[in-house]
Amino acid sequence: MYGINYIAFAIPLFLLFIGVEYLVARRQGKHLFQFDRSIANLSIGVAERLTDLFTTSLFYGVYAYLHDHFALFEIKPTAWLWILLLLATDFLWYWYHRLGHEINLFWGVHVVHHQSEDFNYTAATRITVFQAAVRTIFWAVLPVIGFPPGMIITILLVHGAYPFFTHTQTIGKLGFLEYFLVTPSHHRVHHAINPRYLDKNYGDMFIIWDKLFGTFQEEDEQPVFGLTKPLNSHSFLWQHFHFLIEIWYAVQRQHGLINKLKVVFGKPADFDESLRGLAERQFLSKHKQRASTQRFRGYVLIQLIFSIVLLFFLSLFEHQVAAFPKALTGLFLALTLVNIGCILEQRRWVFYLEWVRFSLVAIGLYVYWPHTALIITGGVVAFIYVFYFRELRRYYLQTLYGSV
Ligand SMILES: [Zn+2]
Ligand SMILES: [Zn+2]
Repeated sequence: MYGINYIAFAIPLFLLFIGVEYLVARRQGKHLFQFDRSIANLSIGVAERLTDLFTTSLFYGVYAYLHDHFALFEIKPTAWLWILLLLATDFLWYWYHRLGHEINLFWGVHVVHHQSEDFNYTAATRITVFQAAVRTIFWAVLPVIGFPPGMIITILLVHGAYPFFTHTQTIGKLGFLEYFLVTPSHHRVHHAINPRYLDKNYGDMFIIWDKLFGTFQEEDEQPVFGLTKPLNSHSFLWQHFHFLIEIWYAVQRQHGLINKLKVVFGKPADFDESLRGLAERQFLSKHKQRASTQRFRGYVLIQLIFSIVLLFFLSLFEHQVAAFPKALTGLFLALTLVNIGCILEQRRWVFYLEWVRFSLVAIGLYVYWPHTALIITGGVVAFIYVFYFRELRRYYLQTLYGSV
């Protein structure tokens, strides 16, 4: 029988650091947090933690299978081997990260981490489960060498938490630590689009690999953050999938398998930038946005806070919650994150999404409380929905965006 999952406490802890960073930045007179960007960043972080609840055991299973069937050495967890494992993990990370910038397919999943034009602890949470899947391919070397899966998972926790702290502008250079650790200063360079900073400082914990393989750059001018071709969208779905869609368009334009593979495994620097416009016209109808009202911001913020609280309890009782309510809650949370992005973008189809979420809640309630009163209420709501659809929609959009 499993107990509660203490790793869930990382969620309030990271939020505490974000709060402290916000206050320190204000004291330093720096404007490091923009509302829409922070919300978009944290939404991606929530999605990653949420999908982790469903995938971590799968990744663990991969390591266990490889260790059981292909381990070259029998490794016992001694102090030196823990250090060796940490170095090996960091070395593999360097190459995973570097190839994430040098190969289109891998950039398609890593780009999400770089979309924020703010650089603060909220940007650190921009990780996706797709990245975790690609990383698993690289880290699969570790169980084959012979490192036990329990050791690997422990090191990955440390290795996963460390980079959170390098995403800040409130900390300057850190003296002798700059020689061997990846510091906030080093990582600011990695997120910057200044020409001299491009494709530099891929390290996660140790900067030694960058120095060894010629990708090190010191922070010697004010960094400008984001993408060289900014996304200009906070849509949750668009941020996740835009570059993969662009790759798909590029592949379709090529003839022959070899040419198609050259696109998939080609360099992002050589990628046809015009495909972004094509994908945007297809999937992202541009429209004039009004200034966000206080109410609209309040609604988005409440949804995000609610999502984080729900995620915390779902993580804490991960091993106690049965599969069905876990999946239902997960789906509701995922739709809420799409909803948040949709509202930030002032999309009108958010109204339909609200009804899907409402239906999910109704299904959940009915499964656990199939009472006549609930059925009658559901019937009344469905009746109102069908007969007053237009009025409801107008009222909702008017209230949220100040326009229909
Ligand atoms: Zn990167
Ligand atoms: Zn980063």
